[in-house]
Amino acid sequence: MNAPFIKTENLSYRYDGDDVNGSPVLKDLSLEINEGEFVAVLGHNGSGKSTLAKLLNMILTPVSGKIYIMGKDITDENMTESDVLELRKNIGMVFQNPDNQLVATIVEDDVAFGPENLGIPSAEIRERVDRVLESVGMSEYAKHEPHRLSGGQKQRIAIAGIMAMLPKCIIFDESTAMLDPVGRQEVMESILKLNREKNITVIMITHYMEEAAMADRIVVLNDGALVLDGTPEYVFEHERILRECGLDLPQCTELIHRLRDHGIELSGECTSVESCAELIFRSLKIEKE
Ligand code: ADP
Repeated sequence: MNAPFIKTENLSYRYDGDDVNGSPVLKDLSLEINEGEFVAVLGHNGSGKSTLAKLLNMILTPVSGKIYIMGKDITDENMTESDVLELRKNIGMVFQNPDNQLVATIVEDDVAFGPENLGIPSAEIRERVDRVLESVGMSEYAKHEPHRLSGGQKQRIAIAGIMAMLPKCIIFDESTAMLDPVGRQEVMESILKLNREKNITVIMITHYMEEAAMADRIVVLNDGALVLDGTPEYVFEHERILRECGLDLPQCTELIHRLRDHGIELSGECTSVESCAELIFRSLKIEKE
């Protein structure tokens, strides 16, 4: 079997470096992420999610523990800077604020910026730009000025810019947090598409339980430690632990749990509006149209 795309072993991090009295913001985190997986990372503010993202993107270096990317130990002292750069090309990052990520005055130039910096020949850049704009549904905006676009559109341009560098994995750090519901939905559709159709590994940090429910797997951090790791169904069954971590359930899942608490028999998966509606239809013996 192939090595996991990303593996961390007893990973710990402190912002105050070697000060052993400083409090670790990540504690002994061991995690494996396979190529093509869609993993959501949940946790209340300050639980260490962004720190984990920066470690996986090699912006930060662990205080202790190991990180393997594509089987290579990035904490190995023999790793040269160019080895790290080579690995880093495989992991793109999309941040919260779309305005901070756009650099050019025309959409297609913005998307071309990353591959240009990688020294890709211009004919290939042209092809990549067209392809990625199409895959985020923004082809018709190629000649537009990014600052005139909506938040969701800007964020899709930011995603296209990362995709144009052909990473194997993209980390989204609260990339929908500043968007309105329409923008959030547009961006979520793009994220799902690049995972399902292009097999890009997705690590998505989010506050929205409904978004996390769309992932293959959810990892829950609390005060820098891993507390839950499993499918959305598995994680949402652990309501008490989630509450202790300051997290809610998706509202539809909570509704099903309340109904079950009142003795209504509803067995099956309840992580999305569709699956919850299905359970209720079945219980009420209503034929779905
Ligand atoms: P999250 O993304 O879950 O909100 P972070 O990884 O941003 O959590 O932060 C984890 C902890 O590390 C928090 O207590 C935060 O205050 C602290 N922290 C984050 N960045 C820095 C920094 N640059 N210097 C010192 N402490 C930091």
